[in-house]
Amino acid sequence: MQRNIVEKLPKVELHCHLDGSIQPHTLKKLADAQGIDLPDDPKKLKKLLTVPKDCQSLLEYLTKFDPVLPLLQTESALEIAAFDLIEQVARENVRYIEVRFAPSLSTRKGLTLTQVVQAVLKGLSEGEKQFGVKSNALLCGMRHHTIEKNVAVAKTAHDFAEKGVAGVDLAGDEAHYPPELFEEMLKKASEWHIPITLHAGECGCAHNIRESIRLGATRIGHGIALENDPELLSKCAKEQILLELCPTSNLQTKAVKHPEDYPFLTFLKAGVPICINTDNRTVSGTTLTDEYLKLGEWYGLNYATLEQLNHYAVDGAFLLEREKELLHRELVAGYEPFVN
Ligand SMILES: [Zn+2]
Repeated sequence: MQRNIVEKLPKVELHCHLDGSIQPHTLKKLADAQGIDLPDDPKKLKKLLTVPKDCQSLLEYLTKFDPVLPLLQTESALEIAAFDLIEQVARENVRYIEVRFAPSLSTRKGLTLTQVVQAVLKGLSEGEKQFGVKSNALLCGMRHHTIEKNVAVAKTAHDFAEKGVAGVDLAGDEAHYPPELFEEMLKKASEWHIPITLHAGECGCAHNIRESIRLGATRIGHGIALENDPELLSKCAKEQILLELCPTSNLQTKAVKHPEDYPFLTFLKAGVPICINTDNRTVSGTTLTDEYLKLGEWYGLNYATLEQLNHYAVDGAFLLEREKELLHRELVAGYEPFVN
């Protein structure tokens, strides 16, 4: 596969965190406007915001978010950040993206959840106007937050249903806060007909994937641990539970040690729908094009499989059927010259 072709082919991304995906120069601008110190030197800035090649752990990975959150406490900053992400994905012809963020992490200076979500949606819709990239937001509850706080996030998703928020997620420390602790929030989300995707099986535990599905998730973020549970693997294939894989991020956090241990082909052969994502464009120092090229290098991925992965993403996307139909058609037309 060639970079210039992969870059131009239409793509869909479902697992991308806003706070980990803002371009360094945009963060620098936000910092300057708010009187917050960030390095002027682009190299130093990158070092602060992107993990090194030899990143050792999820803990080290998470330190790269520390400089970002203080900058995302005003409506204008959130709007600029969301627009910035759409500008980036437009460059590599992402046709649809679901952008996730935890609104409760942007309330430090008094913004309400509603104000946070409104600001992000404004930036996304400006991006759509300017670059023609369709998007929806996913609201993340945080695993270390109280039940009340997380129910409030689900309620906010309900308030913005069909107005730009397409679903909910849980982010944060999966090992210490398993999915069953969030039954109340997820029950409410299900009652309100809010689609659910959950980070699970990133920490090595297939049980969390099983529980996430039981609690209503139709998609799983990462889901690496599924390879250790053949029964659950065939259940996911049968029920077409979509796995949102983020190869670079998974290697950086040491969820997987080597590309040869990455279960990409295992999942593909088992018939589990998978899609490819960046997770965090800035923190991981990656693009969707980079992700696909790596899979090409490691596993000989070709354009036909690339197309298939994007159809899987559309099937699992939190969209209306007619919207999915349009995207499927766009994919077929875009890949047609490069397959067969
Ligand atoms: Zn994630």
